[in-house]
Amino acid sequence: ASLYRVDAWGAPYFSVNSSGNMSVRPHGEETLPHQEIDLLKIVKKASDSKSTGGLGLQLPLIVRMPEVLKNRLESLQSAFNFAIEAQEYEAHYQGVFPVKCNQDRFVVEDIVRFGSSFRFGLEAGSKPELLLAMSCLCKGSPEALLVCNGFKDAEYISLALVARKLALNTVIVLEQEEELDIVIDVSKKLLVRPVIGLRAKLRTKHSGHFGSTSGEKGKFGLTTSQILRVVKKLDQAGMLDCLQLLHFHIGSQIPSTTLLADGVGEAAQIYCELVRLGAQMQVIDIGGGLGIDYDGSKSSDSDISIGYSLQEYASSVVHAIQAVCDRRSVKHPILCSESGRAIVSHHSILIFEAVSASVYDAPAMSTLGLQYFVDGLPDDARSVYGSLSSAAKRGEYETCLRYAEHLKEMCIELFKEGLLCMEQLAAVDGLCDLVSKAVDASDPVHTYHVNLSIFTSIPDFWGIGQLFPIVPIHRLDQKPALRGILSDLTCDSDGKMDKFIGGESSLPLHEPESEGGDFAGGGHYYLGMFLGGAYEEAIGGFHNLFGRPSVIRVQQSDGPHSFAVTLAVPGQSCTDILQMMQYEPKLMFETLRHRAEEYGRGQDVAIIALANDLARSFRNTPYLDGACSGSLNPMGN
Ligand code: PLP
Repeated sequence: ASLYRVDAWGAPYFSVNSSGNMSVRPHGEETLPHQEIDLLKIVKKASDSKSTGGLGLQLPLIVRMPEVLKNRLESLQSAFNFAIEAQEYEAHYQGVFPVKCNQDRFVVEDIVRFGSSFRFGLEAGSKPELLLAMSCLCKGSPEALLVCNGFKDAEYISLALVARKLALNTVIVLEQEEELDIVIDVSKKLLVRPVIGLRAKLRTKHSGHFGSTSGEKGKFGLTTSQILRVVKKLDQAGMLDCLQLLHFHIGSQIPSTTLLADGVGEAAQIYCELVRLGAQMQVIDIGGGLGIDYDGSKSSDSDISIGYSLQEYASSVVHAIQAVCDRRSVKHPILCSESGRAIVSHHSILIFEAVSASVYDAPAMSTLGLQYFVDGLPDDARSVYGSLSSAAKRGEYETCLRYAEHLKEMCIELFKEGLLCMEQLAAVDGLCDLVSKAVDASDPVHTYHVNLSIFTSIPDFWGIGQLFPIVPIHRLDQKPALRGILSDLTCDSDGKMDKFIGGESSLPLHEPESEGGDFAGGGHYYLGMFLGGAYEEAIGGFHNLFGRPSVIRVQQSDGPHSFAVTLAVPGQSCTDILQMMQYEPKLMFETLRHRAEEYGRGQDVAIIALANDLARSFRNTPYLDGACSGSLNPMGN
């Protein structure tokens, strides 16, 4: 476990159990020992065939743990409640979940249900997000906020006003000055008194990767002069009382409470100014930014870590707002935050399988073969070979490598000119491999082929270099003997992971148990990507038409097994994905079946069997089939 820093990033939800498997503690610190869930058992239940009591789902698999989600929500609420009580702050905290972090219906419905006793609401940034937030919040607390962010047209604004008519506590947050005219206009037409918020562009700037939305030149929000114009226009329209909320967003993954307090303090000043200008201000919405410690380093100098706890975050916000409001004798506002990452990251785990590891396989080269190769070289190339041999005798391996690469380049040119045959070219490849193996002998890095698309399931790794903890979910009682990088199924050289938490360029991994370098004979090798519940599903694409993974929803249970499966959704089939690309799989199948009839007739082909095979290919997921993936070895070792 220490190799993978599980205790550092995983507490209090993930640990390694006595069987050497990753286990989930669904209630965080309050989890009793018998409530811990062995992740390998979940994966077996999901992937075993139906005939052996499993659910027959294909990997990759997203395991959702609603209890972890509940615990995260309650922990956030308690942290603010504690800070409010301890500092005698005179208003409450009621957060909203920005649905863009994970729009999955069950995730959003769970959040509304778990949070309804403490008025937890939702934030939407587009029309479909607003529609889903409206329908989900019908089951939430009537006081829960529905914060409407994002760029808006008249239709978005009408929809938000309809939501107010439906007694949902909706706030239209102005992101651009032009939106105000539409709000005034449409609300008059619909005879609805809107509640308006405005997003301020703060001067405080978050310098990390996620800070590009902050600062004066940030993409969103209103500048100081725009805010003043909005106030004036609302006043002229007799609607200044509608302005009730101030929103800002410093950026995701705020690294330190120093930066947080700086931004929140600046926003609190704007809030007090709006009160002074006559707005009926009620709420300060501090946006997202509550970070996750992906590598467990507790560092404020990195995009993937943070230097504060949940409690320190909440206390710092409460203190910064209270200090400004007290100084200005302004009533304490209701506190709202839009934490996405911090709420949903832990609750879902992506499980995928390594199907093979490319074990180093230097082509065997006999002395005779080498002699034949050398004899066939022109003089200049033979002299480079001579220098290589001398360097090898002196033990200067780095020099050897340079000569070997030079020789290879020369041989490629000779091959292109027709002066070397394929056997000789293969021999120079073998020689180079031998030399690099000698140089690298201490720590060769293997390539583990994984049944996964990074573009679909870990898009932030590809897009912005975001790192997540990746750990085998079993065999953790055995010392991993190899180091490896992960290479996915897509036909794209970017579909690989060669950077890991802790600044590592490879991951300690267990060796395949069969000699051929695959995991067929010795059983499966499952890896988990943790803390990826926010953004990854929402952003993931369909490169090479690899679709969404299977999903299983698991709850702790006090029955004979420590868990119960409450939902199982198979991954997208080839049919589903082809349909997304506007193909008509039924028609495609018919075309191919006709063709089979036409061409199969003379060839003694069983047309029905052919049609069945075709139908199965449409039905299956695009990933390697669990039943046969073990015998597939893309490296051909
Ligand atoms: N609110 C707004 C306006 C955002 O832009 C974002 C994301 O960047 C969030 C909330 C969620 O942020 P986080 O996931 O850091 O909590």
